[in-house]
Amino acid sequence: MALAPTATSISESGVLRPSIGKPLLIDGKRGAEEVLAEITERVRALAAHGLQPGLAVILVGADPASQVYVGAKGKVARECGFHSVQHNLAADTSETDLIALIRTLNADPAIHGILLQLPLPGGRDATRIIEAIAPEKDVDGLHPVNSGLVAIGDIKRALVPCTPAGSMILLEKAAAALNFKLHGAEAIVVGRSNLVGKPIAQLLLDRHATVTIAHSRTRDLPAMIRRADVLIAAVGRPEMIRGDWIKPGAIVIDVGINRISVPSADPAVPAKTRLVGDVAFEEWLDCAGAITPVPGGVGPMTIAMLMSNTLKAAIQITGLKPGY
Ligand code: NAP
Repeated sequence: MALAPTATSISESGVLRPSIGKPLLIDGKRGAEEVLAEITERVRALAAHGLQPGLAVILVGADPASQVYVGAKGKVARECGFHSVQHNLAADTSETDLIALIRTLNADPAIHGILLQLPLPGGRDATRIIEAIAPEKDVDGLHPVNSGLVAIGDIKRALVPCTPAGSMILLEKAAAALNFKLHGAEAIVVGRSNLVGKPIAQLLLDRHATVTIAHSRTRDLPAMIRRADVLIAAVGRPEMIRGDWIKPGAIVIDVGINRISVPSADPAVPAKTRLVGDVAFEEWLDCAGAITPVPGGVGPMTIAMLMSNTLKAAIQITGLKPGY
């Protein structure tokens, strides 16, 4: 693989920051700002066509973390110039009532994107509720129609799940700046969830990478990771992927977000917590080509891609040409 970044290619990438050691840090906050700035501009242009994208977010119950996420989504939607509505429902709202609300939103011409905040309280299964969302308004990309479109490679038409879509943007920007060709590259995705691992693997295939999907039953994971030019970590286990598993120069996209406890040296002071990824970041800093930090890597891209999907849905539903 060719790794020949220049000062110009790095600065033009927008998302790459030289770090003190050799690898480049892939800045997801900056990447998200770029995506959101473009969306805001496009939403202004859409006003001339009488179209304002609309996003409806449904929150069931009062989980504090979910309330924060939903609040953030509404705020960013308004900043982009979207029509934004939030439906707060009691934790014990029946599936029938949830599906009835979704059918109302499916029929509402002012709403182009519908998002059900997950997980539902009490570990309730969301499958039937997600399947009630009109596929063309499924901005989380979880409806089987959108999963199917991603699987058959119709990425243009699909509403792609937000975290995989954001991960690919960061990967492509890093690859371009490093003069690294994704086609033919060996990529490994660790994790096979429907939300993250599987769609990322399909997006990588779409870019002609040679893709291995690893999971909890994979034998000799370190050996497989050592072969990979691209590592996507989506496991949910803090710093599981160690620095001596690396192929020098690899591009690393760490999707994992894990909160760990940091004990205090003073027993009288309570332990603090901090976020870490699935990759032992400090160890990979020695020889990765480029790497996303946690926090500040993939995380910020997820909300940005939700806005991107809502804009795409609005354009597709109203039949406007993508360039208007
Ligand atoms: P998930 O549904 O729990 O899936 C985890 C995957 O990791 C499974 O496929 C599992 O394999 C695999 N796995 C578990 N232990 C493993 C091991 N020892 N070796 C190899 N593979 C192993 O999690 P997810 O929803 O995909 O999320 C993954 C991570 O991404 C989490 O940290 C989550 O917080 C984070 N995340 C971040 C964002 C964001 O915005 N940045 C969004 C979504 C998720 P099996 O299938 O065999 O069980």
